[in-house]
Amino acid sequence: MKPDKSDHRHGTLKKSPVRFASVEFNKIDPDATLPAKFDRLLKTIELKRIAGGKMVALKMHMGKGLGYTTIHPLFVRMLIRHIKEAGGEVFITDVGPSHRGDGFGGLTSRDRGYSEDVLGAPIYPVSGVFDKYYYSKEVDFKTLKEIQIAGHIHDAEAMIDLSHFKGHGVSSYGGALKNIAMGCVTAKTRRDMHSLHSGGSGIVWDRDLCDHCNKCVEECRYKANFFNDENEYEVTLHNCTYCQHCIEICPNSALSLESRNYL
Ligand code: SF4
Ligand code: SF4
Repeated sequence: MKPDKSDHRHGTLKKSPVRFASVEFNKIDPDATLPAKFDRLLKTIELKRIAGGKMVALKMHMGKGLGYTTIHPLFVRMLIRHIKEAGGEVFITDVGPSHRGDGFGGLTSRDRGYSEDVLGAPIYPVSGVFDKYYYSKEVDFKTLKEIQIAGHIHDAEAMIDLSHFKGHGVSSYGGALKNIAMGCVTAKTRRDMHSLHSGGSGIVWDRDLCDHCNKCVEECRYKANFFNDENEYEVTLHNCTYCQHCIEICPNSALSLESRNYL
């Protein structure tokens, strides 16, 4: 995506205008529905400048499995129609297979109602069906030396991020920013970024000091920690708020918070 120079002043990005449509439904009238408001809102956006004459990547997070709290296909279809009316060509894109091998987003989106015939644009996994279409960029962070930027995102002439809003255990809210940072790279880079937390969570367990009293698990109000089948301490990254109560309660100082793998 090439930055639009008109958006820059003295090397910094200009603040974007924020528009919103209220979900309040105060009269029985099709014009008062959220899709109707979304349609009016889209007419106020300079889509001709953003998308006109360009190949636009519409970056989405289309969920996986039985997920249904993503953006309804009706809204996606409406945006695509507006992009086309503004003179743009568009494809939808989301991550392909995850490092766990469970395909999601751009590969299984049809299961949740996102398909080309419904939306009016093709759907491509960001880095190809095999997650091997990417551009490599060297970086020099402490434990991260390469970023694999998804090929279809890199090649697009413009990008529109159409993402839903949701809670996130670590960063409070996931959404547009996460959709770009974690969603526009290969599964390997996503895994590398998640691994920046030492041991996957940042909480380090010393098995030699632990007597398995279970106080740490009882203390966690977020049900984020547990002992696995091998009796090893584990933390579920998405549930943990780093309140450190488990660390404080441990009578043997078997838990600590380390940041050795952070950037
Ligand atoms: S509180 Fe400490 S000693 Fe007890 S189970 Fe947890 S880590 Fe082990
Ligand atoms: S830091 Fe807090 S939220 Fe995370 S596992 Fe420990 S007690 Fe639970």
